[in-house]
Amino acid sequence: MGNYSYITNRTLQNKAGQEKGRIAILVKKGSSTAEYKYTCPECGDSRQGQQEFRKPIIVKCQKCGLLMKLAKLKSELKKEKKKLRDAA
Ligand SMILES: [Zn+2]
Repeated sequence: MGNYSYITNRTLQNKAGQEKGRIAILVKKGSSTAEYKYTCPECGDSRQGQQEFRKPIIVKCQKCGLLMKLAKLKSELKKEKKKLRDAA
């Protein structure tokens, strides 16, 4: 694990709000190349590849063209908190 400067592994929602996809991103220490592995939430295409590492990371589905964006973790946490608050 210590050989990477950036690692993330997220579920992706499709347009209907269902968590159908996944994306994992790895960036090796000292590298500007992001290695990705995804399952597209819209078409189910599963692929891996690499692209230049730039934030925010957006990976395009090579089959249907969907742009898979990684939401910032902070905003996700806020959303989670809000959900909890709303449920209380
Ligand atoms: Zn797709």
